[in-house]
Parts: sequence; structure tokens; C-alpha cells
Amino acid sequence: MISSTPNILERDRLLLIESSDELAGFLNERYQNCTVVKTASLLEGIDKLAQSSARAVVVHVADNDPQLEAALRGLREAAGDHTKIVLCCSIELEPHVRAMVSAGADDYLLLPVNDAEFDSALGFVRQSEIAGEACKPATASMDELAALSDLLAQIGQDDFSSLTRLADLVRLAMQSESVTIVADGSTASSGGTVSEPVLVEQIKRGTRTIGQISIGPRRLPYRPADIEKLEHYGRLASHLLDAAANHRSWRKEALTDELSGLYNRRYALRLLKDLIDRARRERFRVTVLLFDIDNFKSYNDAYGHAAGDEIIRCIGKMFQSNCRDHDIVTRYGGDEFCVIFWDADRPRVAGSTHPADALSVLERFKKDLLGWQCESLVDHAPGSITISGGLASFPWDASTAEELIAQADEALLQAKESGKNRVLVFGEHTDAPSAS
Ligand code: GH3
Ligand code: MG
Repeated sequence: MISSTPNILERDRLLLIESSDELAGFLNERYQNCTVVKTASLLEGIDKLAQSSARAVVVHVADNDPQLEAALRGLREAAGDHTKIVLCCSIELEPHVRAMVSAGADDYLLLPVNDAEFDSALGFVRQSEIAGEACKPATASMDELAALSDLLAQIGQDDFSSLTRLADLVRLAMQSESVTIVADGSTASSGGTVSEPVLVEQIKRGTRTIGQISIGPRRLPYRPADIEKLEHYGRLASHLLDAAANHRSWRKEALTDELSGLYNRRYALRLLKDLIDRARRERFRVTVLLFDIDNFKSYNDAYGHAAGDEIIRCIGKMFQSNCRDHDIVTRYGGDEFCVIFWDADRPRVAGSTHPADALSVLERFKKDLLGWQCESLVDHAPGSITISGGLASFPWDASTAEELIAQADEALLQAKESGKNRVLVFGEHTDAPSAS
């Protein structure tokens, strides 16, 4: 019955539950390097596993026991994810035992067992298989290259998802059961978290270690070529993380106004388009406020460009400090600002067209502005700088981002033409009512 003893790779304890003498004899003889521990019942087996783990558990199923499924679930819980649970039964019990695979068993074998089948079910590997594998050089498969190209296309999107994809790719490349990558403060795993790594590779930025790739076990042992391959993946991970970080910083630069540190017009339009698409689906409202500093040119002319710059910076900051975290203040250009108010948590209700949130922010801002003395305008009375603005809301005043901006701009123009220092709501050609 037995040909050669297989190569034993790791944990060497086998737990044998409710075994016949014949099966026990077979296991003892075939896996001589293992300690075979016998127990008379599943309950006793669960108890044994709680005391000490095993490489594999072999359960001999001798009858159609209705309690088997529940007992197997308990056994799986006690065994953890890395221990193989293999059932053995006669052909008559096959339908009953097959159904147990979903209850936590990894595999089942029909008696009398074949030694190669048993090796494979228990995760042992034949010496000849190892020898054959050891000669092969490490190469990248088509699947690996396809996953790599998908990953490259992802750079610049959500960081965590690219780290997860990288973990998937390394797992595919190493053919391991699980991979965990920790980098730049994030952790991502593929196939479960690796708690006891078989291989570890550092991810470096220059000489500094910025992360680690941990590789879990696999059926065949790792070869020197695999270790070399993992080193390449460590370097690849470092380059990918750098590229993602660069992309993030370029993106931020492209969407930020240098003078005020606020988002710029490009960002405002992009965000507004996305928000309106979302607001249409989720039925919330979006309000845009466009405001512009009154007679700004005169401050530039009288106090110089640097003083004008300071006014722009301070007004942007002051408005932002009066907003809620998710309201977006942007510098739209020159002395003009665009503020986007939205609230996905509060769906619009029939008849509620009044942009109350925007108005209460405006009230607070106006109060601050009234008491503000710009340091560069030394001989100037506090409160002399004013703004004019226009408000428009989706879905009542417009159906697209461009239209919404155009309507807010129209209201701003009306505010300027009707004497400045006021904010008008689109369609209501009177000064914006108080929020209270
Ligand atoms: P109104 O009340 O009609 O808005 O009058 P205004 O004087 O503010 O006129 P307008 O808005 O047309 O003028 C904007 C000026 O802002 C013109 C431009 O020289 C100046 N400006 C634009 N960008 C900057 C900047 O980055 N820094 C400074 N200091 N000035 C700027
Ligand atoms: Mg102006």
C-alpha cells in the first residue's frame, strides 16, 4: 500500500479522530516523521486542538451521524484556518460526507485511501515534485503581467485599493496561500492576514524601510528563485508606492491655488459636476455661492499688490473657518471665490428651496469681516472691506454644474449692480434673507 515516505515540510502533528485500526496503521506507517495523535471522538479532538495545534486532522466517518456538521464547525473553529481537516469514509457515506465540506472540512477521501491522494489532501508534497520544481527558474506568468498592468492603471486612485491589488499580485506571483503588505501606515492582505510569515521582504525608500511584504505558506516549498522574485517585488512595491505618492502630490498641486492654499477653479468645477451627479441619485441639494471682493482693485492701487494678496488670503481663510468641514471653499480666480455647500445626510424635502446652511455661514462670515482689520491696510477702518455674492441651488435653479455656476454668477452681477455689499439668492432680486 505504501510507496515512499513523503517530504515533511513543516508542523508534524496529525490528529486522528474515530479512526479504524487500518487507517491508523496506514497513517503511522506513511507519515513516520509525524506524531499521530489518536482520539476516540470529535469532542475529544476539539479539546486536543484547543491544547495544541496540528498540521492536519483526519476524521474517520463511520456512520450517517446527524451531529457531524455541528461537530465539524466546532472542530474548524478550534483548528483555525491553517490546519487541514480531511474526512475519510466508505463509498456508501459519500453523499453525506461530501456535504460536510461546506461545514469546515477541506477535503474528503474514500476508503481504502490512495497514498498520493492522502499526501495531497494533507498538504504533503512528494520528493519528486519538489525536485522538479526546484529546477525551474522563477518567471512571470501571463496572469501576473495582466495583474501588474491593471495595478499600474490604478495608480493615483484610492491608495488602499492599490495596496490590496499589490498584495493580490504578489500572492499570485509567489503562489502562496496569503500575503500581507504593510506600507506607509496602511495594511492590506490577500488570502487572509499572514500572522506567521514563511518569507519576509522589506520595502525600502532609499535606505529607509517604509514597509514589509509578508508571505504565508504554500503547498510546495519556496525555492531560491522565489526568494529572488520576492526581492524584485519588494523593489516594485517601492517604485509603485513612490509613483502613487508623486501622483497624489502633483494632483494636489494641479488643483490647489498657490496664493490662498484653497482649491482652485478646476477643482471646484470637477467637484461640482461629481456632486451634482450624486445629488441627482441620492436626492440631496447643492448650493453654490460665488462671491467677489468689492472694489478690490482700489486696495491694490492704494496699498500695493502684496497688500491685495494678503486680503485674498485672509478672506479665503476667514470664510473657510466659518464653514462646516465638508463645505468646499475655492478661489475661483482673481478676487472671486466659489463655495460649494452640500449635505448628503439631509435629503431635500418638498418646498425647502431656502439655502439655510449657506446663509447661516454667510451671517457668521459677515460678522467676522465687519470686525476685521487687515494688517497691511494700517490707516484703514476695520470693516471697510466688503463682498458681494450670488447664491443658486440644485435642483431648483439649475440642472448642471455649469448652469448652477452661471445662475450664481447672474445673482452676483445683480448684487454688484444694485449697490454691492450684499448677497442675492438667484431668482430673488432682493438681499439674501437672514438665516435665522
Ligand atoms: P468690483 O467691486 O466690481 O468687484 O470691483 P473690483 O475693483 O474688485 O474689480 P475686479 O473684481 O474686476 O478687479 C479685480 C482685480 O483683482 C483686478 C486684478 O488686478 C486684481 N487681482 C487679480 N488677481 C490678483 C492677485 O492674485 N493678487 C492681487 N493682489 N490682485 C489680483
Ligand atoms: Mg472685485
